[in-house]
Amino acid sequence: MMTGEQYVESIRSMKTEIYMFGEKINSAADSPILRPSLNSVKATYDLAEKPEYEDLMTVTSHLTGKKINRFCHIHQSAEDLINKVKMQRLCGQKTAACFQRCVGMDAFNAIYSTTFEVDKKYNTPYFNNFKEYLKMVQEKDLTVDGAMTDPKGDRGLAPSQQSDPDLYLHVVERRADGVVVRGAKSHQTGISNSHEVIVMPTIAMRPEDKDYAISFAVPVDTKGIFMIVGRQSCDTRKLEGGKIDMGNSEFGGMEALVVFDNVFVPNDRIFLNGETDFSGVLVERFAGYHRQSYGGCKVGVGDVLIGAAALIADYNGAAKASHVKDKLIEMTHLNETLYSCGIACSAQGSKTESGNYLIDMLLANVCKQNVTRYPYEIARLAEDIAGGLMVTAPSEKDLRHEKLGPYVEKYLKGVDGVPTEYRLRVLRLIENLTLGAAAVGYRTESMHGAGSPQAQRIMIARQGNIAQKKDLAKAIAKIDKK
Ligand code: SF4
Ligand code: FE
Repeated sequence: MMTGEQYVESIRSMKTEIYMFGEKINSAADSPILRPSLNSVKATYDLAEKPEYEDLMTVTSHLTGKKINRFCHIHQSAEDLINKVKMQRLCGQKTAACFQRCVGMDAFNAIYSTTFEVDKKYNTPYFNNFKEYLKMVQEKDLTVDGAMTDPKGDRGLAPSQQSDPDLYLHVVERRADGVVVRGAKSHQTGISNSHEVIVMPTIAMRPEDKDYAISFAVPVDTKGIFMIVGRQSCDTRKLEGGKIDMGNSEFGGMEALVVFDNVFVPNDRIFLNGETDFSGVLVERFAGYHRQSYGGCKVGVGDVLIGAAALIADYNGAAKASHVKDKLIEMTHLNETLYSCGIACSAQGSKTESGNYLIDMLLANVCKQNVTRYPYEIARLAEDIAGGLMVTAPSEKDLRHEKLGPYVEKYLKGVDGVPTEYRLRVLRLIENLTLGAAAVGYRTESMHGAGSPQAQRIMIARQGNIAQKKDLAKAIAKIDKK
């Protein structure tokens, strides 16, 4: 396994083509805007080295029998699924950001069971390809980005009906030794901090979409791949030199539009190639695992936000007010409800044909549907407790200013014994989580990440079994079944 420092060096040594603000970036490791997001992934390596987290962060590989980071693991039991959620809560607590490495883990588990079933039906070599690939990933302790979301163009048209065929990633050339692909993937979490990218199709497909039913893995610095980093609210505060105004100066997340401009994929790195009837299965499983994930990571970030709200109440001298206490109870209730869903869909997990464990799909979708709502209410209550100073406080430079500093110190002070700087630090953290760079991960990603709310509602409709519920009602009401 790699240490955190080895991980940073390994990313620095890659030739990943990254663009931001119209300029080429040498490495995420040396960009002040991207470095916090790299630190969040680094935390998944650092925590794995700590004896107190060994049971959560590491596990024995079922392929090699060696100790590996849980982020590279294929879940072997419902307990593994539960430990995954617990690990994500821990990482959320330690970073207060998106630590990005889960998308790869969720892709591994979805591809593992799906390729097994594709091979069984079509006698293809994908399961073996994938197992060999995964052994390499586990051995080298790599971070792998799972890339699913295509740009999609006209949402009313299938991939092969788009006026621009590249709006869904597709095969443009078939060779004896592999395929050439073209297209893009949007909102790619952690791509600049990843060694590899696993591409998957984004929707269920029909036979005419054959060239779009493609799944594979390549190194992120493969020729033809480049990324355009997405902006985040308050991102340029990271260039100002201070620490307080960033709210969370050490950790963050990142997303990018990733372009695949005629990228060659060798045969042994292909996990699906034209088997359109399995495209939907792969999408559903990946989405299911990632919807489970949100019952861990967002809860951990929520813990930090609740803690920040409680702290600012202390610093404001409002902690004893009954409505403040009640708001903290409400935030805790909402946060633990999300966790309950993450644990429940894991505990109800079941074995797939390939041998790994899949979450309960209905409960995983209920989990994510709640995540599209509760973090917003938790954020609203945190803002309520914080007060307006959260968005009107002067900058760190004013606090440090020779003339202005003493006035900021004097007039923005709360209770005795707590320096004004502490008050500002906590307010900036709440701002960061609810409105700033981290709000991408805590709010909008809670809405759209792992699929927008309607996607979960479709799955809930499919899995909810209303017909059986009608039978239950009929039996109680003594209505004869017809
Ligand atoms: Fe992991 Fe959560 Fe980020 Fe997804 S949003 S990659 S589950 S931390
Ligand atoms: Fe996400």
